Amino acid sequence: MLMRIGGKDTAGPDDRWIDVKNPATGVLIDRVPSGTSEDVAHAVEVADAASHGWKKTPMRERGIILFHAAGLVREQHKEIAQLLTMEQGKPLRESIDEVRGFANILEYYAGISAHSSGEAIRLGPSGDCMVVQEPLGICGAIIPWNMPVIILGWKIGPALLAGNTMVVKPASTTPLSSLRLAAILDKAGLPPGVLNMVTGSGESVGGAIVRHPLIRKVSFTGNCITGEKIRQNASGQLKDLTLELGGSDPMIVMDDADIDRAVEGALRGRFYNAGQVCTAVKRLYVHDKIADIFVRKLKGRVESLKTGNGLEPGIDLGPMNSAEQRERISCMVSDLMEKGEGTILTGGCPMPGPSYDNGYFYSPTLVTGVHPGASLLTEEIFGPVLPVMSVPDLDTAILEANRSRYGLGASIWTKDLATTKRVFDQVNAGIIWVNRHLTIPPEIPFGGMNESGIGRENGSHARESYSRTKTLFLGW
Ligand code: NAD
Repeated sequence: MLMRIGGKDTAGPDDRWIDVKNPATGVLIDRVPSGTSEDVAHAVEVADAASHGWKKTPMRERGIILFHAAGLVREQHKEIAQLLTMEQGKPLRESIDEVRGFANILEYYAGISAHSSGEAIRLGPSGDCMVVQEPLGICGAIIPWNMPVIILGWKIGPALLAGNTMVVKPASTTPLSSLRLAAILDKAGLPPGVLNMVTGSGESVGGAIVRHPLIRKVSFTGNCITGEKIRQNASGQLKDLTLELGGSDPMIVMDDADIDRAVEGALRGRFYNAGQVCTAVKRLYVHDKIADIFVRKLKGRVESLKTGNGLEPGIDLGPMNSAEQRERISCMVSDLMEKGEGTILTGGCPMPGPSYDNGYFYSPTLVTGVHPGASLLTEEIFGPVLPVMSVPDLDTAILEANRSRYGLGASIWTKDLATTKRVFDQVNAGIIWVNRHLTIPPEIPFGGMNESGIGRENGSHARESYSRTKTLFLGW
């Protein structure tokens, strides 16, 4: 596939390409241009030219285009989901969820297009003020490979509705579904140049987006190290940044919880997308009184998960997205074993057997008795490995939950309102779920505290984050 610039499929300047392979089989699916800073400069020029007209288009009309695009995505959701599974690895039903989730996001922003924000302030006899929101101009978006479709929606939905034009860089291993969606948005009526997509490496294309002086805001999702690099590269330009970074979400299960429901919550919370979700359950704290039965049930469910090529029916767990990601997880588990810092209850190795040889499969893994300082607890585990710790009471659970440099999400599983309130007040996280984990509908603001990031995506907050405030003072 080619890049999308100015509403057209666009080749790179030379004959350099990035291969896109299926992580379940290693088979080449397609290739995309390995773009450069010149491609970014061209996309910015085109986005700049489109900016004036898009800004003047009434918000309701912008919303109608998003709504129309959502309809086209729904019509084509099976093919897009298939493409997503082929490049990313996740089971087809998860890809279908994700593509429908993308349509939900566009529909949500279309829905709020009739409610533009602003206010009037009466100052008394001396004057009145009118405060309005206007678009920032050109915005950059840098997308990771783990949930590439939904995260694309989180960025382009609010930014386009707010009247910005965009230059987007998809992740190098998952550009195909994004390019397909960009073409659909163009077909739905986005004027040429409003949404541009440049493929290429993080350093060249991502770096050029971050440094370009005409790009007023960059919204980045990815790991903390890249986030920090982006912050440094953007410094000196007064550029607006949203950084959605890593997480190490704790899940706390109290002794009054519905155990079966919590077991299913932990299973989905950790093993969805082979554990490659920023808000996955990455540390599980279970009350002593129920720990034995909880762990026994969870182990049974983990061992029942079917791992394989996401395109095959009945698969619960696909491969990891790349050899590099699997290697990172393998190293974390081996390090834990070598140091004697935990006990593997099940899994703990790449999936054995010839049917897994060509893909990046890792066996769903449960670990208990993990030492508090082990890297499995202090670092983000971006794969299907779940450490389970038992705790004597809520105070200890809260203390352990907060023993992290991250602060993305957390969940508490209980029937007690007072317990819920204490966790809500005391745990450092951008979102606290109660008897749930992972669910993020488009209406709710989402983002992290501490090293999990800056800014919020989703909801009307996000539209405002892609806008600037302008005030008219009427002096009487
Ligand atoms: P990554 O940081 O390696 O890559 C993300 C994107 O940044 C890719 O498109 C990459 O090409 C680009 N990039 C790399 N170097 C760059 C540079 N120097 N300048 C500009 N762009 C650059 O992240 P990843 O490993 O692909 O994604 C996984 C991480 O993302 C995990 O840590 C996960 O928790 C996090 N994540 C966070 C959220 C959230 O909302 N907080 C959501 C999903 C994923």
